[in-house]
Amino acid sequence: MEVKLLEYTPNPIKVLWTAARTCYSEDPPFKTYTRKKENEKAMLTLINSVVDMGHHSILEHVNLTFGIAGISRACSHQLVRHRIGISYSQQSQRYVSFDEGINYVMPLSIYKDPRKRKVFDFFMQDIKCYYKKLINEGIPPEDARYIFPNSCCTNITMTVNARELIQICRLRMCGTAQWEIRGMFLLAKIAISRNRNLKFLSEYLKPKCEWDGKCTEGKRCCGRIGKKQKK
Ligand SMILES: Cc1cc2nc3c(=O)[nH]c(=O)nc-3n(C[C@H](O)[C@H](O)[C@H](O)COP(=O)(O)OP(=O)(O)OC[C@H]3O[C@@H](n4cnc5c(N)ncnc54)[C@H](O)[C@@H]3O)c2cc1C
Repeated sequence: MEVKLLEYTPNPIKVLWTAARTCYSEDPPFKTYTRKKENEKAMLTLINSVVDMGHHSILEHVNLTFGIAGISRACSHQLVRHRIGISYSQQSQRYVSFDEGINYVMPLSIYKDPRKRKVFDFFMQDIKCYYKKLINEGIPPEDARYIFPNSCCTNITMTVNARELIQICRLRMCGTAQWEIRGMFLLAKIAISRNRNLKFLSEYLKPKCEWDGKCTEGKRCCGRIGKKQKK
């Protein structure tokens, strides 16, 4: 799996600060935005306090575009359930005929057992062969794809605003979320934290227990918040 940050709103801190200032200042936004002297620390203090207040709509002014490759269809199906403030362009199984073969994701629980791994690989080889046979016999890719399982890889370009990204991380970074989508958002967070202009945002990308100070998962609780509190 690869998750790469392709583009983001230029000057994200200044844009968020301008949005926040617009709500509480007599100045028009363009005057605020072009103010020269504002230092980054002061801008971040205002942004953090507005976010802490729950005034999250300012976060919708910053968009991020990611290139995501090699996730399973099982993972992408969960991802696209997120609908608000997010857009997707996903590799088509109608227009791509997979001449180079089909890549697939194997869960670790299967991979670590050589016997199960062999059966899984064998099953996928069979599917690849049968898919090719269908294509060679004139079946269009849009129909031949019906034999593909959830493990097949897909690629997605995803554009999401910062507010929705935070909401998704609340849910999908939770210890009870599925490992593949959790890993995907962990990689998104790493990409963001490595970017000097967006580092501040990575602080907000955390599971709901870290926002709320408690876990609502009952018996499925992973113990993360308890461990943090003990520390
Ligand atoms: C651990 C886990 C397990 C899950 N298991 C299942 C499952 O078994 N079956 C299943 O079907 N789904 C499952 N889901 C998917 C889940 O039900 C949501 O569809 C998914 O997480 C998208 O989240 P969202 O509704 O916050 O959507 P988003 O698009 O991310 O919405 C963002 C926010 O906008 C608001 N919003 C969005 N749409 C509306 C609306 N129509 N009306 C009012 N407010 C809205 C809500 O406040 C929402 O939180 C699971 C999710 C998780 C995290």
